[in-house]
Amino acid sequence: MMAAREVDILIIGSGFSGLTMAMEARRRGFADIAILEKADDIGGTWRENTYPGVACDVPSHLYSFARHLNPDWSTSYAGGNEIWMYMRNVARDEGLFELCHFGQTMQSARWTGSRWQVETVEGQKWSARVLVSGIGALHIPLIPDVPGFFSFPGPSFHSAEWEHDLNLTGKHVAVIGTGASAVQFIPEIAKTAAHVTVFQRTAPYVLPRPDGPIRTWMQRLHHWLPFLPRLRRYVIFNLFEIRHAMFMGKPWAVNGAMKMWRKELERSIDDPQLQDVLTPPYQIGCKRVLSSNDWYPTLARKNVTVLPAGLNGVSYKTLTASDGTEVEVDVVIWGTGFHVTDSLASIDITGENGLTLQDSWKDGLQAHLGTTNAGFPNLFFLLGPHTGLGHNSVVLMIEAQVAHVCRMLDAMRQQGIDAIAPRPEAQVAFEQEIQARLNDSVWQAGGCVSWYQDENGRNPTLWPGTVREYQRRMKRSGLEQYQPAKAE
Ligand code: NAP
Repeated sequence: MMAAREVDILIIGSGFSGLTMAMEARRRGFADIAILEKADDIGGTWRENTYPGVACDVPSHLYSFARHLNPDWSTSYAGGNEIWMYMRNVARDEGLFELCHFGQTMQSARWTGSRWQVETVEGQKWSARVLVSGIGALHIPLIPDVPGFFSFPGPSFHSAEWEHDLNLTGKHVAVIGTGASAVQFIPEIAKTAAHVTVFQRTAPYVLPRPDGPIRTWMQRLHHWLPFLPRLRRYVIFNLFEIRHAMFMGKPWAVNGAMKMWRKELERSIDDPQLQDVLTPPYQIGCKRVLSSNDWYPTLARKNVTVLPAGLNGVSYKTLTASDGTEVEVDVVIWGTGFHVTDSLASIDITGENGLTLQDSWKDGLQAHLGTTNAGFPNLFFLLGPHTGLGHNSVVLMIEAQVAHVCRMLDAMRQQGIDAIAPRPEAQVAFEQEIQARLNDSVWQAGGCVSWYQDENGRNPTLWPGTVREYQRRMKRSGLEQYQPAKAE
């Protein structure tokens, strides 16, 4: 039998979370680190999502590693490939590729009293003192089960599994869904497809954004005056923090956003009936607020039809919408999002006394400070429950988490503590506080159903406060939040 490879810190995933963790742990003097990555390259979301128009809806100077600001961003909102190349450059400069074990998917992890025993689908065994999950929540494509879809003869694929060899020019295409991904790729495919039929079950709020190329002279300036990208990041961060007020229902912020949205809709769409169809039936902020300058102009095109309905059934090439409309298409593209709350809970992890993650989360996902779970010593979730955001960049949440985790590991080293898990009462208090704050929030009471919620309507996904509040809280929290793990 193959012996387990021993390592101090084992990180799962090499997206923003995994790479940030590896970088910071090294800076703190933890040298014995390995990263397991299921694919053959680093990059997470930005390696996987390659659909036309893929870009980040957070400005690039904010959506960057704090220690590796990029003076060369070519546009205000960089495309997916540019972000991926940036991540690869950072990983190369930091020597992180050497830590990566590609083609290794974690299958299970078991706490054995002092260490995590990890097995991969591909058959590797690992033994680690500390296990860090950087797997994120938006990577398992969700394709709804639509009656009769098996009879559809044409190509069909999910936005995260784009078929680049398929030329959509002159094709009749149906897109199911109008979330963040569809809002980015529909304007691109509508340029060449014969016709695009959009199945819009629920209209999103889509706001304009200050997008555009960053000129070469400005990039040069960023090189000469390195404080400039940092200043830019600081300003964008603070502007985005102000957006939190909209999610808290502050009238000045809600009214301002609604005015901006309506102006953009009316500027692009003349037809009052289509304006009605594109008017969301819930409070702004309840679902993720999207940003695009070409969404509404695209829907006004002659070769685009918006059906205000979900997809109900398929019979050969004919798709039937929930309002009974029938449409014949050549290609179906699913813009239907990802398994979110169920993807984390499905990981096979067993903590102290045989407690499984599924048992621990039978009443819903939770994690103390969004990062640790009672009964699971030395296991840290990056972008775990309650760390998602509606208003700002999650990169800053990851950085706050990683700084906290590294500080805890350092304190343990200094005090000779091998393993910690959160105090159950601290975790209960945290969860009660977060749920109470979320209960009255727009995400829970704004009149929508969203992927932020689980099947019981509980919201295990979002952080209700500002990023600054989370940063402060993570900074102030120390070992008093934890208890040493009991030896078994
Ligand atoms: P999503 O936001 O979950 O959107 C899924 C869409 O599919 C929704 O419009 C949903 O409608 C629709 N849908 C699901 N089942 C359907 C059915 N049976 N019939 C018709 N419509 C159906 O997924 P996504 O667009 O892939 O985005 C997921 C998340 O990824 C985003 O919220 C964001 O966090 C992230 N993302 C980020 C960026 C970025 O730039 N940072 C870009 C892309 C994605 P309902 O609204 O009615 O449920």
